[in-house]
Amino acid sequence: MATGRNPEVRKDVIFGKWVIFSPARARRPSDLKSKNPNPNPNPNSSSSSCPFCIGHEHECAPEIFRIPQNVSNWKVRVIENLYPALRRDQQFENRSPNSQSCVLTGFGFHDVVIETPNHSVNLSDLSESEIGDVLLAYKERIEQLSCQGSMKYVQVFKNHGASAGASLSHSHSQIMGLPFIPPTVSSRLQSMKEYFDDSSNCGLCNIRSEELLIDESIHFFSIVPFAASFPFEIWIVPREHSSHFHMLDNEKAVDLGRLLKLMLMKLSMQLKDPPLNFMIHTSPFQLTDSHLSYNHWFLQIVPQLTVVGGFEIGSGCYINPVFPEDAAKLLREVNFSM
Ligand code: AMP
Ligand code: ZN
Ligand code: ZN
Repeated sequence: MATGRNPEVRKDVIFGKWVIFSPARARRPSDLKSKNPNPNPNPNSSSSSCPFCIGHEHECAPEIFRIPQNVSNWKVRVIENLYPALRRDQQFENRSPNSQSCVLTGFGFHDVVIETPNHSVNLSDLSESEIGDVLLAYKERIEQLSCQGSMKYVQVFKNHGASAGASLSHSHSQIMGLPFIPPTVSSRLQSMKEYFDDSSNCGLCNIRSEELLIDESIHFFSIVPFAASFPFEIWIVPREHSSHFHMLDNEKAVDLGRLLKLMLMKLSMQLKDPPLNFMIHTSPFQLTDSHLSYNHWFLQIVPQLTVVGGFEIGSGCYINPVFPEDAAKLLREVNFSM
């Protein structure tokens, strides 16, 4: 293990960020186990008071679609967010008063994906094909949003546990359609372009390494990235070069469902059901063919074990106390039958 190792600084060539690895900053990796064994934002919540439970559809904002369609015993529902950050009923307008200040109207989409009708079921409790249905719901919604003229980027994300930002415990994720390209996306694309220009390769097609590998499936592999910003961070990467998540087909959705389930279960066992986030990093809608060759989508899972402090906010650099190869070894060795 890395406790005796010297600090090291690594560059994440995908996000273009520097990360400091400093085992001295942590107690042993096992001490990072979630302090809160139950990350439920409201442990007393129950299906009788939960708007996301089956039978409570009338307490939710309008439905966009459900899977399967037109049945009362749905498996997945995509609904409007009752408290949206951006509003679909606003006109998109650039109201920048001059070139020094940029102002857009608050137009955009903010949806909720209810991943299961059952209150007490986590995403990782679902079968691989049920998780596949959730992923296909993301795909369908992204395709719908791609038809909206002013949409630039869609961010899919999940907050699990109060300290990962969740306000409701019923298993759900969110989709935001944005009329601008967020800064993390622009810097990721720039960094991947630089890698491509230097090496003539896509950084993610090249990222697989035995030391960092956790597991693999027919179409995907999971790794701890070489310059992970967060302890036990995991990336699930398509083996075949693909720029946009919404190109996923039904077979790949089930295959990804299997690997995602496995990674969530491994994190839950190794770190005692930690609060976590996952994010799908896809490409902006309007990309020319020359940009497609270096943009490769992936899914990032971040267990929330460390606190972001002044250094991180000030510098944009993260300090990770766990070397990625040690985290990958621990996660590879978590064994159970699915
Ligand atoms: P989170 O805060 O990550 O747990 O996500 C839950 C989301 O559900 C929040 O963004 C809320 O605004 C949204 N929300 C809460 N109640 C409802 C409801 N009844 N219908 C639709 N969205 C809701
Ligand atoms: Zn519920
Ligand atoms: Zn690639």
